[in-house]
Amino acid sequence: MTTHNVISPPALLTGQTSDHIIWLTKRIGIHQKMIGAWQHMQHDANKAGFDLQIASGFRSFERQLTLWNNKFTGKSIVNNKNNQPIDLSQYNELDKIDAILLFSALPGASRHHWGTDIDIYAPNLLDNNQKLQLEPWEYQQRGPFAALSQWLTANSQKYGFYFPYDIERGGVAIEPWHLSYAPLASRYQQQLNLKTLTNTIKHSDILSKSCILENLANIYKKFIINVNNAPDLLQ
Ligand SMILES: [Zn+2]
Repeated sequence: MTTHNVISPPALLTGQTSDHIIWLTKRIGIHQKMIGAWQHMQHDANKAGFDLQIASGFRSFERQLTLWNNKFTGKSIVNNKNNQPIDLSQYNELDKIDAILLFSALPGASRHHWGTDIDIYAPNLLDNNQKLQLEPWEYQQRGPFAALSQWLTANSQKYGFYFPYDIERGGVAIEPWHLSYAPLASRYQQQLNLKTLTNTIKHSDILSKSCILENLANIYKKFIINVNNAPDLLQ
């Protein structure tokens, strides 16, 4: 296949269109070309005893911008690596940006914009009164989703999926719930270059815009392309 030569519009890469999205529920959408692979994996996970579900799929630029700006103003909590809330008012501008990027993508650079990336869990593994937190311990040994994590590590590649935030690389924190669909996402990652991102930020209402633009080359290197490589499959 020659999918590598297909140029994706900047609007798709940066979350400013949902034309490529198919909605599974009112709020959960995924890339229309990923639906078969997702359903196949979900079906097999089910046979293995996991009610595999999506907690978060497609996210628009506007949504990510709201998340970002709320963290920047202190309206939403920002945690450190150990999941402890931090007081951003003590930080300089660039350190603030760095702290937010540990857990939240820069608007325009979220892999969730593409529709190829999903946060997964299995509600049948939670106790009745247990709520999904999307915290690493839930997916690690002794956590409620430990068996699911093992199953996905062994099997997700068969369906084209992999974990972009599998280990700490000094950028985004570990996200054992975040799966990426390699056949599409690896192409989008290559195409989301610094120029496209710069244009997107320039034309947005993001807080701390000039500081972000000044440091965007570093942010790009540290947080956006500093991820697990897509396995070379199904491409
Ligand atoms: Zn995610």
